[in-house]
Amino acid sequence: MAGILLVAEVDAGELRPEFWELATLAKALSGAVPGGVSIALIGTKLDAAARAAAAFAVDALHLVEDPRLEHPWPEAHACALIQLCNQLAPQLVIAPRTVLGAEMAARLAVRARWQLLQDVTQIEATADGGLQYTRPVSGGAVSATLRAGAGPWVVVPRPRAFTPFEPGAAPASIAPTRHAFAPPPLATVCAAPQRVAVEGISIERAKTVVAGGGGLGGPEPFALLRQIAELVGGAVGASRVAVDSGWVQPAMQVGLTGKTIAPDVYIAVGISGAIQHLIGCSSSQVIVAVNSDASAPIFGIANYGLIGDWKEIMPAFRDALLARAG
Ligand SMILES: Cc1cc2nc3c(=O)[nH]c(=O)nc-3n(C[C@H](O)[C@H](O)[C@H](O)COP(=O)(O)OP(=O)(O)OC[C@H]3O[C@@H](n4cnc5c(N)ncnc54)[C@H](O)[C@@H]3O)c2cc1C
Repeated sequence: MAGILLVAEVDAGELRPEFWELATLAKALSGAVPGGVSIALIGTKLDAAARAAAAFAVDALHLVEDPRLEHPWPEAHACALIQLCNQLAPQLVIAPRTVLGAEMAARLAVRARWQLLQDVTQIEATADGGLQYTRPVSGGAVSATLRAGAGPWVVVPRPRAFTPFEPGAAPASIAPTRHAFAPPPLATVCAAPQRVAVEGISIERAKTVVAGGGGLGGPEPFALLRQIAELVGGAVGASRVAVDSGWVQPAMQVGLTGKTIAPDVYIAVGISGAIQHLIGCSSSQVIVAVNSDASAPIFGIANYGLIGDWKEIMPAFRDALLARAG
């Protein structure tokens, strides 16, 4: 029986960076879950990602490579993971909370009747062989600590809740075990997915994020935020109001139903600071808020607050950056 199985998601041949957060969690729980740590890679063109993941010293690398797994087709990927789990019998599976990872985890838990621990921000083994974990509930307004009895478990950590593991300089050489993909008839089909082009750096990778909300009043002011983001080498984010209003792409949404980010600097412009938004940005190193309402909740979390109209503050900020850039 395998101990911990990490699901390493691969996107266009590259290991997704969330993997290193899962690795931290696996390391923390490896003492309590005997049987070693293995990695599962599912998709196509997995070799480079497998080499990268192997830098996290593990006991085994399992690859399921098949043309039908080229696209992030949830049913097919979940099927491959379920087959792998049937063979390896892990006690704990850790999957990323990406669109694909969360769905694979849910399908695995339902099919295998394992416990599903979602959106985990803290976790520890208990003396009775279970797990105690913390997760946000009630739309992020409450943080609940729960206990799960004996495994197997499927754990999906909250993005940015765990510091990414720093792999050693020299990747370990470990021969992967290749598994055939033999799914039963699948109920869904996967049409060729269309990649949505994200302008510039993604908000998850940017060191500075300039985000706009309902207070901007429309899509046009986002051009100013884009200009500022370019000047500081950052990315533009948004609140759900801005996304739901169709002003910007969903990929830019920060929050409970958007992305969880932890940039060095987060500049929130015309964003009230609803709890569902804060849950996605509260791990930022420095938060700067620009809001005309002094009582806006965003000021409760901001390191620096500017009370005023963004129409005056943000162009002046842009001009100062331009002047500094010469
Ligand atoms: C289940 C659930 C999930 C959700 N998930 C998310 C999520 O992922 N992300 C998210 O963002 N929200 C989410 N929400 C919505 C959330 O509750 C808020 O409605 C939303 O965050 C509000 O967006 P906002 O602050 O940009 O807009 P508003 O509430 O419209 O606030 C606008 C702010 O701009 C300020 N303002 C107005 N004019 C100016 C000006 N000229 N200059 C400066 N400031 C100005 C106002 O004072 C106000 O504070 C979720 C809600 C639910 C129920």
